[in-house]
Amino acid sequence: MQLKRTKRSKTGLAAVLGPGSDWRRVLSFIPADKYTVIHGQCLEVGVGGFILGGGINALGATARHGWAAENVIEMEMVLADGSYATVNKHFARIKRLNGKSEKNHFSDENDLWFALRGAGTSFGIVTEFLYTVYERPETFPILIPIDLSRIEDIRNIEKAAANTKKYLFTCYSTRRYFDGVFPYNLLPYNLPYSMKIGGKHFVLINKLQGLLGMSSTTPFVLITVTQVQGASGRFTDPIPVVNYLKNHKIKMGVEDPRIINLLTSLAGYLTVGNYEDGFLTLKEQQILGTLNIASAAMYGMKNSIGFGNLFLNHPIFGQNSKLSPEKVKAKTGCDFCWFSFNFDNHLRLRNYSRVAISPEFGVFQWDFSCLFRNKNSRCPQAVRDLKRLISHDESIPKISQFQYGNTPSCEDIDFGSRYWGSHYPRLARIKTVWDPKNVFHHCHSVGSTEQFCCPY
Ligand SMILES: Cc1cc2nc3c(=O)[nH]c(=O)nc-3n(C[C@H](O)[C@H](O)[C@H](O)COP(=O)(O)OP(=O)(O)OC[C@H]3O[C@@H](n4cnc5c(N)ncnc54)[C@H](O)[C@@H]3O)c2cc1C
Repeated sequence: MQLKRTKRSKTGLAAVLGPGSDWRRVLSFIPADKYTVIHGQCLEVGVGGFILGGGINALGATARHGWAAENVIEMEMVLADGSYATVNKHFARIKRLNGKSEKNHFSDENDLWFALRGAGTSFGIVTEFLYTVYERPETFPILIPIDLSRIEDIRNIEKAAANTKKYLFTCYSTRRYFDGVFPYNLLPYNLPYSMKIGGKHFVLINKLQGLLGMSSTTPFVLITVTQVQGASGRFTDPIPVVNYLKNHKIKMGVEDPRIINLLTSLAGYLTVGNYEDGFLTLKEQQILGTLNIASAAMYGMKNSIGFGNLFLNHPIFGQNSKLSPEKVKAKTGCDFCWFSFNFDNHLRLRNYSRVAISPEFGVFQWDFSCLFRNKNSRCPQAVRDLKRLISHDESIPKISQFQYGNTPSCEDIDFGSRYWGSHYPRLARIKTVWDPKNVFHHCHSVGSTEQFCCPY
């Protein structure tokens, strides 16, 4: 790994990254309190697959600086015929196996640069990335507990998000720890509904709500707000955010900026390297045993209508459900579940004509994830059922079926159109130029007919 000054980067600074690295290693070399790079939120995510699939950082860095794919300056790679290439936005310089070199300029039908940035794993093996580095701290969100028990509350956040380009808003549900065991490093994002301490069972959320003076009987939701425009430091300033949220009738459990900063610092303290970590630390994995994950996500939503109702009132997972955590576990086999949802108007402002990521985004995005120990449980099916309720319901407004960046789909909706949207036919044509024998073929590659890529 190398950090270097170069005029080829629009910031004057770039990193040379090996694709086998992961974001934990990259951030320990290029620390986020000094620099910003677009990286996976879970730091175990690998550099190669993340950048080549588009790469989104949904906590703010992408809203400010774009997708990972938009921040690549040049790639070194091996092509399907075994030759070696240096590829940038102007050309591919190719060294053939017979020792000859050639320079290949791109047209619409052979634009490898376009294809590599969003569908890269279908076009070759990248051995090195030259990647943009921003010489400013990555701005961390602040966390505020809010009352969110009615559709109207969700609509208020949606309006708040639509009325500013300065902030990015994400909400995390809290009611999710169905067996009473709580992985501590998730504390910053989702407080446990209840917890076993020294063999005793404590119901935490209601107690905390009482302490914060919140009236709702529904467990509160954490809203994270990141400043993504204008000068900002390591943390988002809470004072203007509180005023802004108040003006949009958002019911906050805490308005005192000192307490918000304290909560946010606690979040930073509890996460490794002051950043969102993987789902579980190694120690927690030892305590909890092997866990599997089932997730559902959609980023192509036109608005929160439809999802909001499900988030609040789903009979099993809904925020207002009266089922006890034990009952939810007994019904589904899921050990931990959580919702998160974003209001991101920034994705839609980008120019997607030069990257191979679907241009058909919505301003509203959600995801739902469950961890489960028993592989034979109903948990993955329960997650899939929840997603089907939204994706197959035509009355729920959507722009597309686009899903969360870089992840396989477990649904019977064509992955190619789902992931690359209207760019897919062009990608298929570019594939015939650079990989006519379909050497780089894997589940959910361009041209792949394998549609079911999920283990459960
Ligand atoms: C816990 C978790 C959190 C995640 N968070 C995010 C997130 O915040 N944002 C986001 O956008 N995505 C996220 N993802 C999705 C993630 O980006 C994809 O799973 C990505 O494919 C991971 O890449 P990898 O290199 O780690 O994985 P691998 O499984 O090693 O690779 C994935 C695919 O890319 C191919 N590949 C890898 N390196 C190269 C290379 N150098 N050249 C050619 N092909 C290559 C592999 O052959 C494989 O087909 C997350 C995934 C998980 C499991």
